Amino acid sequence: MQKSKRTSLKNSTGLCHSGLDPESILRLSSGKFKDNLDTGFRRYDKIGFSKIFKKKYVARIIEILSGEYPKAKCALDFASPHELLFAVILSAQCTDERVNKITAVLFKKYKTLKSYANADLAELENIVRSAGFYRNKAKNIKASAKKLIENYGGTVPQTMEELLTLPGVARKTANVVLGNAFGKNCGIAVDTHVIRIANLLKLTKNQDPVKIEKDLMEIVPQPRWTEFSHLIQTLGRKVCKARKPGCKECPLTAKLKVES
Ligand code: SF4
Repeated sequence: MQKSKRTSLKNSTGLCHSGLDPESILRLSSGKFKDNLDTGFRRYDKIGFSKIFKKKYVARIIEILSGEYPKAKCALDFASPHELLFAVILSAQCTDERVNKITAVLFKKYKTLKSYANADLAELENIVRSAGFYRNKAKNIKASAKKLIENYGGTVPQTMEELLTLPGVARKTANVVLGNAFGKNCGIAVDTHVIRIANLLKLTKNQDPVKIEKDLMEIVPQPRWTEFSHLIQTLGRKVCKARKPGCKECPLTAKLKVES
């Protein structure tokens, strides 16, 4: 009876292609985690994973991915907080690789915030053109530089509230800057990789980045918020690609198979 219920749950929920589903987690659980995982599993189809279950589940995912990608870090090149800020503004709907090519030119030409604030807009647009939405991005970079000079003494502020006052800056950008320029875990940067993979792994049922971030902040330990994004983004870039996830090579699949 119990067995057929679990089988039908597995079939009906269809988690990510790894078999990284409640049943797999349950199989690999032993001793100290088993009670919580059992409870989590039993409650799964009615209310989703229980929070305790999700915390254990995400801890296991972090453990596996941090073992696989110990050097996962921000993929954008930068040498100062404002360079990171501008790189992240450019990265909307654009690959990090492309942004790094653009910023190699941009950062060489504009060295100070003042030079961005005084930049000729058409010239700035031309440099960032290949990032897409280049008019808006150039406008936001110039306006942000101006605001940083006028309102923040020429430095990038270190709080979410202040960062959100800058043109073109939403929570994802602010989280990347806070986490990578200042080492502050104030939130979790949710990009397309995180949206896709957090859903595949059933860490959230939402598609809205702000709601996903809230769901993740409840289950990922705060000291690992920045790292968590890097790990998921690295998995997304290397293996769990949107068009063709490499499930056979996925470290989550491999680890679970070994240990289950
Ligand atoms: S690549 Fe990994 S995380 Fe992505 S769907 Fe496949 S098994 Fe799941």
